[in-house]
Amino acid sequence: MSKKLIQIGMDDIDSPVGGCTTHFASIIVEKLSQWIVEWTDYPNLIRLNPGIPYRTRGNGAVSLRFLADTDDLESIIPMVDRLIHDYVKEDYPNTNPGVVFLEGKIPKQVKHLSELALWRVVPIELAERVIETCKIPHYASGNGRGLIGALSAVANTLREDYTYEYIAYRSLKDCKHDRGIDGNSVIAMDKKMGDQVFSNVDPSTNRILIEPHGPDPVLFGIRGETAESVLEASQQVKSRQNIERWMVFRSNQGTGEHLKHDVEIKNLRPYMAAVVKGRVESEPRMIVGGHCIFSIIDRGDRIDCAAYEPSGEFREIVMKLRMGDLVRAHAGVRPASRTHGLTLNLEGLEVVELAKTSIFSNPLCPQCGKRMKSAGKEKGYKCVKCGYRDTEISRTERPLARDLLTGLYLPPVRAQRHLTRPLARSGKTNRNIPYGLISKWHNF
Ligand code: ATP
Repeated sequence: MSKKLIQIGMDDIDSPVGGCTTHFASIIVEKLSQWIVEWTDYPNLIRLNPGIPYRTRGNGAVSLRFLADTDDLESIIPMVDRLIHDYVKEDYPNTNPGVVFLEGKIPKQVKHLSELALWRVVPIELAERVIETCKIPHYASGNGRGLIGALSAVANTLREDYTYEYIAYRSLKDCKHDRGIDGNSVIAMDKKMGDQVFSNVDPSTNRILIEPHGPDPVLFGIRGETAESVLEASQQVKSRQNIERWMVFRSNQGTGEHLKHDVEIKNLRPYMAAVVKGRVESEPRMIVGGHCIFSIIDRGDRIDCAAYEPSGEFREIVMKLRMGDLVRAHAGVRPASRTHGLTLNLEGLEVVELAKTSIFSNPLCPQCGKRMKSAGKEKGYKCVKCGYRDTEISRTERPLARDLLTGLYLPPVRAQRHLTRPLARSGKTNRNIPYGLISKWHNF
Protein backbone atom coordinates (compact mmCIF):
# COMPACT_ATOMS: atom_id res chain seq x y z
CA MET A 1 0.00 0.00 0.00
CA SER A 2 1.29 3.52 -0.79
CA LYS A 3 2.48 5.72 2.08
CA LYS A 4 1.36 9.29 2.59
CA LEU A 5 2.84 12.16 4.56
CA ILE A 6 0.68 12.80 7.62
CA GLN A 7 1.21 15.88 9.74
CA ILE A 8 -0.43 16.46 13.10
CA GLY A 9 -0.45 19.81 14.91
CA MET A 10 -1.51 20.18 18.55
CA ASP A 11 -1.71 22.83 21.25
CA ASP A 12 -3.20 23.83 24.59
CA ILE A 13 -3.23 20.35 26.06
CA ASP A 14 -2.89 20.91 29.78
CA SER A 15 -4.12 18.62 32.50
CA PRO A 16 -5.29 19.08 36.10
CA VAL A 17 -2.17 17.28 37.31
CA GLY A 18 0.09 19.67 35.45
CA GLY A 19 0.46 18.10 32.00
CA CYS A 20 1.57 20.08 28.98
CA THR A 21 1.46 19.88 25.20
CA THR A 22 5.02 18.55 24.67
CA HIS A 23 4.44 15.84 27.29
CA PHE A 24 1.21 14.83 25.61
CA ALA A 25 3.03 14.81 22.25
CA SER A 26 5.53 12.33 23.67
CA ILE A 27 2.64 10.01 24.59
CA ILE A 28 1.27 10.19 21.02
CA VAL A 29 4.75 9.53 19.60
CA GLU A 30 5.00 6.46 21.82
CA LYS A 31 1.67 5.14 20.52
CA LEU A 32 2.46 5.92 16.89
CA SER A 33 5.87 4.33 17.15
CA GLN A 34 4.13 1.04 18.03
CA TRP A 35 2.21 1.49 14.77
CA ILE A 36 4.00 1.15 11.45
CA VAL A 37 4.87 4.78 10.89
CA GLU A 38 8.04 6.14 9.38
CA TRP A 39 9.09 9.38 11.04
CA THR A 40 10.23 12.01 8.53
CA ASP A 41 11.15 14.62 11.12
CA TYR A 42 11.70 15.02 14.83
CA PRO A 43 8.61 16.30 16.64
CA ASN A 44 8.66 20.08 16.15
CA LEU A 45 8.32 22.36 19.16
CA ILE A 46 7.07 25.63 17.74
CA ARG A 47 7.05 28.69 19.96
CA LEU A 48 4.49 31.30 18.98
CA ASN A 49 4.05 34.99 19.78
CA PRO A 50 5.43 35.26 23.32
CA GLY A 51 3.18 38.22 24.14
CA ILE A 52 -0.09 36.26 23.84
CA PRO A 53 -2.01 36.74 27.09
CA TYR A 54 -3.71 33.31 27.12
CA ARG A 55 -0.52 31.32 27.21
CA THR A 56 0.20 29.19 30.28
CA ARG A 57 4.00 29.23 29.95
CA GLY A 58 6.14 29.66 26.87
CA ASN A 59 3.41 29.51 24.19
CA GLY A 60 4.63 26.29 22.65
CA ALA A 61 2.75 24.08 20.18
CA VAL A 62 3.87 20.77 18.66
CA SER A 63 3.71 19.10 15.26
CA LEU A 64 4.47 15.53 14.20
CA ARG A 65 5.34 14.44 10.64
CA PHE A 66 5.46 10.85 9.44
CA LEU A 67 4.66 8.52 6.56
CA ALA A 68 1.84 6.07 7.10
CA ASP A 69 -0.49 3.96 5.01
CA THR A 70 -3.17 6.02 3.31
CA ASP A 71 -6.01 4.61 5.35
CA ASP A 72 -4.15 4.77 8.69
CA LEU A 73 -5.39 8.29 9.36
CA GLU A 74 -8.87 6.90 9.86
CA SER A 75 -7.62 4.99 12.91
CA ILE A 76 -5.09 7.60 14.07
CA ILE A 77 -7.69 10.38 14.49
CA PRO A 78 -9.94 8.49 16.98
CA MET A 79 -6.88 7.23 18.83
CA VAL A 80 -5.58 10.80 19.37
CA ASP A 81 -9.08 11.96 20.39
CA ARG A 82 -9.28 9.20 22.98
CA LEU A 83 -5.84 9.99 24.37
CA ILE A 84 -6.68 13.68 24.74
CA HIS A 85 -9.84 12.83 26.64
CA ASP A 86 -7.87 10.64 29.04
CA TYR A 87 -5.13 13.26 29.42
CA VAL A 88 -7.01 16.52 30.02
CA LYS A 89 -9.95 15.01 31.96
CA GLU A 90 -13.49 16.16 31.32
CA ASP A 91 -14.41 19.68 32.37
CA TYR A 92 -10.90 20.85 33.22
CA PRO A 93 -11.39 24.56 32.53
CA ASN A 94 -7.81 25.74 31.94
CA THR A 95 -7.30 23.94 28.68
CA ASN A 96 -8.69 24.40 25.19
CA PRO A 97 -7.11 21.56 23.22
CA GLY A 98 -6.85 21.73 19.48
CA VAL A 99 -5.42 19.10 17.13
CA VAL A 100 -5.32 19.17 13.32
CA PHE A 101 -4.56 16.32 10.92
CA LEU A 102 -3.16 17.04 7.48
CA GLU A 103 -2.39 14.74 4.59
CA GLY A 104 0.12 15.83 1.97
CA LYS A 105 0.81 19.49 1.19
CA ILE A 106 0.09 22.25 3.66
CA PRO A 107 -2.51 24.68 2.24
CA LYS A 108 -1.33 28.29 1.81
CA GLN A 109 -4.08 29.61 4.12
CA VAL A 110 -2.60 27.51 6.94
CA LYS A 111 0.91 28.79 6.13
CA HIS A 112 -0.38 32.35 6.29
CA LEU A 113 -2.04 31.84 9.69
CA SER A 114 1.09 30.18 10.98
CA GLU A 115 3.26 33.18 10.02
CA LEU A 116 0.80 35.56 11.69
CA ALA A 117 0.75 33.58 14.93
CA LEU A 118 4.45 34.23 15.44
CA TRP A 119 3.94 37.96 15.91
CA ARG A 120 0.24 38.89 15.94
CA VAL A 121 -2.92 37.89 17.79
CA VAL A 122 -4.86 35.45 15.62
CA PRO A 123 -8.63 35.39 16.21
CA ILE A 124 -10.20 31.96 16.78
CA GLU A 125 -12.62 32.73 13.94
CA LEU A 126 -9.73 32.85 11.46
CA ALA A 127 -8.54 29.41 12.57
CA GLU A 128 -12.07 28.03 12.27
CA ARG A 129 -12.49 29.58 8.80
CA VAL A 130 -9.20 28.10 7.58
CA ILE A 131 -10.18 24.67 8.91
CA GLU A 132 -13.54 24.87 7.17
CA THR A 133 -12.20 26.17 3.84
CA CYS A 134 -9.39 23.63 3.70
CA LYS A 135 -11.59 20.84 5.13
CA ILE A 136 -9.00 19.91 7.75
CA PRO A 137 -9.88 17.00 10.05
CA HIS A 138 -9.50 18.27 13.60
CA TYR A 139 -10.32 17.86 17.25
CA ALA A 140 -11.20 20.82 19.48
CA SER A 141 -12.71 21.28 22.88
CA GLY A 142 -13.25 24.14 25.31
CA ASN A 143 -13.28 27.38 23.34
CA GLY A 144 -11.23 25.82 20.52
CA ARG A 145 -8.31 28.23 20.92
CA GLY A 146 -5.82 25.40 20.73
CA LEU A 147 -6.59 25.14 17.00
CA ILE A 148 -4.61 28.37 16.45
CA GLY A 149 -1.42 26.86 17.82
CA ALA A 150 -2.14 23.47 16.20
CA LEU A 151 -2.42 25.01 12.71
CA SER A 152 0.59 27.24 13.34
CA ALA A 153 2.78 24.34 14.40
CA VAL A 154 1.80 22.05 11.55
CA ALA A 155 2.59 24.70 8.92
CA ASN A 156 5.94 25.81 10.31
CA THR A 157 8.42 23.42 8.75
CA LEU A 158 11.45 25.27 10.18
CA ARG A 159 13.26 25.82 6.90
CA GLU A 160 14.99 29.12 7.68
CA ASP A 161 16.72 28.21 10.92
CA TYR A 162 16.14 25.81 13.79
CA THR A 163 17.62 24.36 16.96
CA TYR A 164 16.98 21.28 19.09
CA GLU A 165 15.71 20.62 22.59
CA TYR A 166 16.03 17.39 24.52
CA ILE A 167 13.20 17.27 27.07
CA ALA A 168 13.22 14.85 30.00
CA TYR A 169 9.90 14.21 31.77
CA ARG A 170 9.28 12.96 35.26
CA SER A 171 6.26 10.89 36.27
CA LEU A 172 3.07 12.82 36.99
CA LYS A 173 3.11 11.61 40.61
CA ASP A 174 6.48 13.34 41.12
CA CYS A 175 5.20 16.70 39.87
CA LYS A 176 4.48 18.10 43.34
CA HIS A 177 8.06 17.65 44.49
CA ASP A 178 11.39 19.31 43.88
CA ARG A 179 13.22 18.14 40.76
CA GLY A 180 16.56 18.01 42.50
CA ILE A 181 18.64 19.01 39.48
CA ASP A 182 22.34 18.97 40.33
CA GLY A 183 23.49 22.45 39.34
CA ASN A 184 27.17 21.51 39.22
CA SER A 185 26.49 18.76 36.69
CA VAL A 186 24.70 21.31 34.48
CA ILE A 187 27.54 23.84 34.69
CA ALA A 188 30.08 21.11 33.88
CA MET A 189 27.95 19.90 30.95
CA ASP A 190 27.62 23.44 29.61
CA LYS A 191 31.39 23.96 29.73
CA LYS A 192 32.12 20.63 28.08
CA MET A 193 29.56 21.01 25.28
CA GLY A 194 30.69 24.59 24.43
CA ASP A 195 28.82 26.23 21.56
CA GLN A 196 26.96 23.00 20.74
CA VAL A 197 24.41 23.97 23.39
CA PHE A 198 22.99 27.34 24.41
CA SER A 199 20.90 29.14 27.03
CA ASN A 200 21.28 26.37 29.60
CA VAL A 201 23.17 28.41 32.20
CA ASP A 202 23.06 32.17 32.81
CA PRO A 203 26.75 33.10 32.64
CA SER A 204 26.58 36.21 34.81
CA THR A 205 24.86 34.50 37.78
CA ASN A 206 25.55 30.79 37.07
CA ARG A 207 21.80 30.30 37.41
CA ILE A 208 20.62 26.97 35.93
CA LEU A 209 18.06 27.53 33.18
CA ILE A 210 17.22 23.96 32.16
CA GLU A 211 14.48 23.34 34.72
CA PRO A 212 11.04 24.93 34.82
CA HIS A 213 9.73 25.97 38.21
CA GLY A 214 6.08 24.92 38.01
CA PRO A 215 4.50 21.58 38.90
CA ASP A 216 4.67 20.29 35.33
CA PRO A 217 6.14 16.98 34.13
CA VAL A 218 9.16 18.58 32.44
CA LEU A 219 12.17 17.56 34.50
CA PHE A 220 14.64 19.49 32.38
CA GLY A 221 15.26 20.59 28.81
CA ILE A 222 18.56 21.13 27.00
CA ARG A 223 18.81 23.42 23.99
CA GLY A 224 21.46 22.95 21.36
CA GLU A 225 22.48 22.96 17.72
CA THR A 226 22.14 19.28 16.83
CA ALA A 227 20.12 16.27 17.98
CA GLU A 228 23.34 14.44 18.83
CA SER A 229 24.66 17.28 21.00
CA VAL A 230 21.50 17.72 23.10
CA LEU A 231 21.35 13.97 23.64
CA GLU A 232 25.02 13.83 24.64
CA ALA A 233 24.53 16.84 26.95
CA SER A 234 21.51 15.22 28.63
CA GLN A 235 23.57 12.23 29.71
CA GLN A 236 25.78 14.53 31.78
CA VAL A 237 22.94 16.07 33.81
CA LYS A 238 22.20 14.55 37.21
CA SER A 239 18.89 14.89 39.03
CA ARG A 240 17.32 13.40 42.14
CA GLN A 241 14.03 12.64 40.39
CA ASN A 242 13.99 9.94 37.72
CA ILE A 243 13.45 10.43 34.03
CA GLU A 244 10.27 8.62 33.07
CA ARG A 245 10.39 9.51 29.38
CA TRP A 246 12.40 11.73 27.06
CA MET A 247 12.24 13.00 23.51
CA VAL A 248 14.24 15.25 21.19
CA PHE A 249 12.39 18.11 19.46
CA ARG A 250 13.41 20.29 16.52
CA SER A 251 12.40 23.83 17.30
CA ASN A 252 12.35 27.52 16.39
CA GLN A 253 13.67 28.36 19.88
CA GLY A 254 16.67 30.67 19.82
CA THR A 255 16.04 31.71 16.20
CA GLY A 256 14.38 35.11 16.69
CA GLU A 257 11.64 34.00 14.29
CA HIS A 258 9.02 36.22 16.00
CA LEU A 259 10.93 39.45 15.38
CA LYS A 260 11.01 39.63 11.60
CA HIS A 261 8.70 42.63 11.21
CA ASP A 262 9.68 46.30 11.26
CA VAL A 263 6.61 48.25 12.31
CA GLU A 264 6.06 52.01 12.50
CA ILE A 265 4.75 53.33 15.79
CA LYS A 266 1.39 54.31 14.29
CA ASN A 267 0.83 50.73 13.10
CA LEU A 268 1.60 49.01 16.43
CA ARG A 269 -1.18 46.97 17.99
CA PRO A 270 -1.45 45.33 21.45
CA TYR A 271 0.49 42.06 21.86
CA MET A 272 2.41 42.43 18.59
CA ALA A 273 6.03 41.27 18.50
CA ALA A 274 7.79 43.93 16.44
CA VAL A 275 11.00 45.78 15.69
CA VAL A 276 10.45 49.53 15.99
CA LYS A 277 12.99 52.05 14.76
CA GLY A 278 13.00 55.51 16.31
CA ARG A 279 15.04 58.27 17.89
CA VAL A 280 15.25 58.56 21.64
CA GLU A 281 12.92 61.39 22.57
CA SER A 282 13.11 61.36 26.36
CA GLU A 283 16.13 60.21 28.30
CA PRO A 284 15.85 56.97 30.28
CA ARG A 285 14.75 57.14 33.87
CA MET A 286 14.58 54.47 36.54
CA ILE A 287 11.17 54.24 38.20
CA VAL A 288 9.99 52.57 41.41
CA GLY A 289 10.48 48.83 41.13
CA GLY A 290 13.73 49.21 39.21
CA HIS A 291 12.13 49.45 35.77
CA CYS A 292 13.77 51.67 33.21
CA ILE A 293 11.62 53.81 30.89
CA PHE A 294 12.39 56.06 27.92
CA SER A 295 10.52 57.07 24.81
CA ILE A 296 11.25 56.99 21.11
CA ILE A 297 9.74 58.90 18.23
CA ASP A 298 9.24 58.07 14.56
CA ARG A 299 7.44 60.33 12.04
CA GLY A 300 6.02 62.43 14.87
CA ASP A 301 4.56 59.47 16.82
CA ARG A 302 6.05 58.60 20.17
CA ILE A 303 5.92 55.54 22.40
CA ASP A 304 7.36 54.55 25.77
CA CYS A 305 9.86 51.71 25.92
CA ALA A 306 10.35 49.69 29.12
CA ALA A 307 13.21 47.49 30.31
CA TYR A 308 11.88 45.78 33.42
CA GLU A 309 13.74 44.95 36.60
CA PRO A 310 14.28 41.23 35.77
CA SER A 311 16.29 42.29 32.72
CA GLY A 312 19.11 43.10 35.17
CA GLU A 313 22.28 44.49 33.62
CA PHE A 314 20.47 45.17 30.32
CA ARG A 315 18.99 48.21 32.06
CA GLU A 316 22.50 49.64 32.52
CA ILE A 317 22.84 49.75 28.72
CA VAL A 318 19.40 51.29 28.33
CA MET A 319 20.27 53.98 30.90
CA LYS A 320 23.17 55.09 28.66
CA LEU A 321 20.86 56.19 25.85
CA ARG A 322 20.68 59.90 25.14
CA MET A 323 18.23 62.11 23.29
CA GLY A 324 18.58 61.73 19.54
CA ASP A 325 20.15 58.25 19.56
CA LEU A 326 18.71 56.10 16.77
CA VAL A 327 17.61 52.67 18.01
CA ARG A 328 15.68 49.60 16.87
CA ALA A 329 13.59 48.32 19.75
CA HIS A 330 12.96 44.56 19.68
CA ALA A 331 9.75 44.39 21.61
CA GLY A 332 6.41 42.99 22.58
CA VAL A 333 3.64 45.59 22.60
CA ARG A 334 1.96 45.97 25.97
CA PRO A 335 -1.60 47.25 25.66
CA ALA A 336 -2.52 50.67 27.05
CA SER A 337 -3.88 50.76 30.60
CA ARG A 338 -5.48 53.46 32.73
CA THR A 339 -2.03 54.73 33.70
CA HIS A 340 0.10 54.04 30.59
CA GLY A 341 -0.21 54.30 26.86
CA LEU A 342 0.83 51.50 24.52
CA THR A 343 4.32 50.46 25.68
CA LEU A 344 7.17 48.55 24.07
CA ASN A 345 8.38 45.84 26.44
CA LEU A 346 12.00 45.53 25.37
CA GLU A 347 13.38 42.10 24.45
CA GLY A 348 16.46 43.59 22.83
CA LEU A 349 17.91 46.88 21.71
CA GLU A 350 19.89 47.69 18.63
CA VAL A 351 21.77 50.96 18.92
CA VAL A 352 21.96 52.08 15.29
CA GLU A 353 23.53 55.53 15.62
CA LEU A 354 24.69 57.59 18.56
CA ALA A 355 23.56 61.22 18.60
CA LYS A 356 26.36 63.78 18.67
CA THR A 357 25.87 65.11 22.16
CA SER A 358 27.98 67.92 23.53
CA ILE A 359 28.56 69.74 26.78
CA PHE A 360 28.46 73.51 26.51
CA SER A 361 30.31 75.63 29.07
CA ASN A 362 31.07 79.31 29.60
CA PRO A 363 34.43 80.40 28.14
CA LEU A 364 37.59 80.77 30.23
CA CYS A 365 38.81 84.36 30.78
CA PRO A 366 41.64 85.06 28.29
CA GLN A 367 43.32 87.31 30.92
CA CYS A 368 43.23 85.30 34.15
CA GLY A 369 41.95 81.85 33.14
CA LYS A 370 38.89 81.92 35.47
CA ARG A 371 35.59 80.64 34.04
CA MET A 372 33.53 83.66 32.92
CA LYS A 373 29.91 84.49 33.68
CA SER A 374 27.20 85.66 31.30
CA ALA A 375 26.97 89.46 31.22
CA GLY A 376 23.29 89.27 30.27
CA LYS A 377 21.31 88.46 27.17
CA GLU A 378 23.42 89.23 24.05
CA LYS A 379 25.96 91.11 26.21
CA GLY A 380 28.71 88.53 26.06
CA TYR A 381 30.65 87.34 29.12
CA LYS A 382 32.39 88.98 32.08
CA CYS A 383 35.08 87.79 34.42
CA VAL A 384 34.20 88.17 38.10
CA LYS A 385 37.84 87.83 39.10
CA CYS A 386 39.66 90.39 36.92
CA GLY A 387 36.71 92.34 35.49
CA TYR A 388 37.49 91.50 31.84
CA ARG A 389 34.43 91.75 29.54
CA ASP A 390 34.00 90.43 26.03
CA THR A 391 30.96 90.67 23.75
CA GLU A 392 32.48 88.53 20.95
CA ILE A 393 33.50 85.50 23.00
CA SER A 394 31.09 82.54 22.97
CA ARG A 395 30.42 79.31 24.89
CA THR A 396 32.77 76.42 24.30
CA GLU A 397 31.45 73.09 23.03
CA ARG A 398 32.99 69.80 24.06
CA PRO A 399 31.71 66.57 22.52
CA LEU A 400 30.44 64.23 25.22
CA ALA A 401 32.36 60.98 25.36
CA ARG A 402 29.79 58.16 25.08
CA ASP A 403 30.18 55.01 27.08
CA LEU A 404 28.04 53.07 24.58
CA LEU A 405 28.78 51.45 21.23
CA THR A 406 26.43 50.79 18.35
CA GLY A 407 25.27 47.18 18.08
CA LEU A 408 22.74 44.72 19.48
CA TYR A 409 22.18 44.39 23.21
CA LEU A 410 20.05 41.70 24.83
CA PRO A 411 18.84 41.07 28.38
CA PRO A 412 20.83 38.36 30.19
CA VAL A 413 20.05 34.81 29.08
CA ARG A 414 17.98 34.21 32.23
CA ALA A 415 15.54 36.95 31.14
CA GLN A 416 15.27 36.02 27.46
CA ARG A 417 12.23 34.63 25.67
CA HIS A 418 12.40 31.07 24.28
CA LEU A 419 12.36 32.57 20.79
CA THR A 420 15.06 35.18 21.40
CA ARG A 421 18.14 34.57 19.27
CA PRO A 422 20.82 34.62 21.99
CA LEU A 423 24.17 36.25 21.30
CA ALA A 424 25.70 32.76 21.48
CA ARG A 425 23.82 31.95 18.26
CA SER A 426 24.66 35.10 16.33
CA GLY A 427 25.78 34.23 12.83
CA LYS A 428 24.55 30.65 13.19
CA THR A 429 21.82 29.27 10.96
CA ASN A 430 20.68 25.66 10.59
CA ARG A 431 18.97 25.42 7.21
CA ASN A 432 17.22 22.56 5.41
CA ILE A 433 15.29 19.80 7.06
CA PRO A 434 17.75 17.25 8.50
CA TYR A 435 18.29 14.22 6.33
CA GLY A 436 17.43 11.21 8.47
CA LEU A 437 16.90 11.10 12.21
CA ILE A 438 19.38 9.84 14.79
CA SER A 439 18.62 6.24 15.73
CA LYS A 440 17.51 6.98 19.29
CA TRP A 441 15.56 10.25 19.67
CA HIS A 442 13.10 9.08 22.34
CA ASN A 443 13.06 6.36 24.98
CA PHE A 444 9.98 4.37 23.93
P1 ATP B 1 1.74 24.51 27.36
O1 ATP B 1 3.19 24.36 27.60
O2 ATP B 1 0.91 23.78 28.33
O3 ATP B 1 1.35 24.17 25.95
P2 ATP B 1 1.61 27.30 26.67
O4 ATP B 1 2.34 28.37 27.32
O5 ATP B 1 2.08 26.82 25.35
O6 ATP B 1 1.41 26.05 27.63
P3 ATP B 1 -1.16 27.14 26.06
O7 ATP B 1 -1.83 26.56 27.25
O8 ATP B 1 -0.85 26.24 24.93
O9 ATP B 1 0.16 27.88 26.53
O10 ATP B 1 -2.02 28.38 25.60
C1 ATP B 1 -1.68 29.22 24.52
C2 ATP B 1 -2.95 29.42 23.69
O11 ATP B 1 -2.77 30.57 22.86
C3 ATP B 1 -3.23 28.26 22.76
O12 ATP B 1 -4.62 28.03 22.76
C4 ATP B 1 -2.81 28.77 21.37
O13 ATP B 1 -3.56 28.18 20.32
C5 ATP B 1 -3.08 30.24 21.52
N1 ATP B 1 -2.22 31.06 20.68
C6 ATP B 1 -0.91 30.88 20.42
N2 ATP B 1 -0.44 31.84 19.62
C7 ATP B 1 -1.47 32.65 19.36
C8 ATP B 1 -1.61 33.84 18.59
N3 ATP B 1 -0.60 34.38 17.95
N4 ATP B 1 -2.84 34.41 18.55
C9 ATP B 1 -3.87 33.89 19.24
N5 ATP B 1 -3.79 32.79 19.98
C10 ATP B 1 -2.61 32.16 20.05
